[in-house]
Amino acid sequence: MDKIKMTVPLVEMDGDEMTRVLWKWVKEILISPYVELKTEYYDLSIQNRDATDDRVTCDAGNACLKYGVGVKCATITPNAQRLEEFKLKRLYPSPNATIRAIMDGTVFRAPILTKGITPLVPTWTSPIVIARHAYGDVYKAVEIKAKGGVATLACDGEERQIFDFGSDSGILQAQHNTDKSIVSFATSCFEYALSEKKDLWFSTKDTISKVYDHRFKDIFQEIYDTKYKKAFEDNGIEYFYTLIDDAVARVMRSRGGFIWALKNYDGDVMSDMVATAFGSLAMMTSVLVSPSGAYEYEAAHGTVTRHYRKYQAGESTSTNSVATLFSWTGALKKRGELDGNAELVRFATDIENSTICTIENGEMTGDLAGLFCREGVSVKRLNSKEFLEAIARNYEKNCLK
Ligand code: NAP
Ligand code: MG
Repeated sequence: MDKIKMTVPLVEMDGDEMTRVLWKWVKEILISPYVELKTEYYDLSIQNRDATDDRVTCDAGNACLKYGVGVKCATITPNAQRLEEFKLKRLYPSPNATIRAIMDGTVFRAPILTKGITPLVPTWTSPIVIARHAYGDVYKAVEIKAKGGVATLACDGEERQIFDFGSDSGILQAQHNTDKSIVSFATSCFEYALSEKKDLWFSTKDTISKVYDHRFKDIFQEIYDTKYKKAFEDNGIEYFYTLIDDAVARVMRSRGGFIWALKNYDGDVMSDMVATAFGSLAMMTSVLVSPSGAYEYEAAHGTVTRHYRKYQAGESTSTNSVATLFSWTGALKKRGELDGNAELVRFATDIENSTICTIENGEMTGDLAGLFCREGVSVKRLNSKEFLEAIARNYEKNCLK
């Protein structure tokens, strides 16, 4: 069999611990046997970030912008304990935050659904993708413990009284955001909705926050009307704004199948709720989309340190590689779309379907085995490598003739 050829390289960002092990196996077992893989490789392991003074992370982010598609393995975000463990020169920032800043992107988190793993909300039969604005608001707020007196908000000659505490003590907080960041957020959301051909919902509390949240609503509407309305209509998808309370109620009653854009705090909270309701963190993918239309794919989970310790001790682990595998197929599919490489798109889609079919027929890793329930199907708990091999068998049986 001839391997599928690629014309433009993928930006490949390797990572740490258990996910670095899965990364290698995913490539060995499910990609390299079928694709003449072309990548520009960046080693984002904590050791190499330290050796390069984190230069490698910036280079990788810039490469994503240059080539348009990247795939990233989970990485350690160092804390005091990691500083000691790896004898690091300093506490490096989260690679995800660095890459997000370079790409000026928005993160979309999408669950992978299979029969046999029922969401806690039974009507959610299609994925709900959460888009979280990752700049400003409470995450960049300035806070004061007031001991009394008059609090004012002032900027560039304009001043407003916030509250007269008198002799009471209290608390104060000032939030900000920038039009530029909101424009990037909105643009990434519209781009991604078009790329996925899914409806886009956006919700804030604009009835109460008549200046702050209202600005978000206005910017989204203006960009939609001037730049995306026609393309949305041509693709049969919809942009829909509603108050956040109404959105929450509608989401609970919905069947899923849309993208839900949220401000920073709302997205932080709602993404954890939605992820939990869909089942397992190991079945959640994440894609960073820049307003210029560059894509970086990854799993939403971390490096699974607890499993890695067992692996280091020579034990076999049943770590779930689905989100890591889908970051590869997502990236290959996007590369294929951009390059007009139908074979590559088909391959990535076939691997995804083979993965879902493997689980639906009862072969899965331990985290899913506890959740899975499907009439007539008995569950076989596999270790990490056996699971990937089972997918390869199904792929060869069903997709290669
Ligand atoms: P984690 O790696 O996501 O793992 C937390 C727990 O979730 C695991 O111990 C495991 O539960 C379960 N889990 C997660 N992924 C799984 C998978 N693929 N298969 C099976 N079970 C899975 O989070 P963490 O332990 O808090 O963080 C570990 C490291 O990852 C940290 O150094 C952190 O900085 C980094 N991190 C990186 C990213 C990223 O690069 N995007 C994101 C988050 C965290 P059980 O132990 O119960 O089996
Ligand atoms: Mg959170």
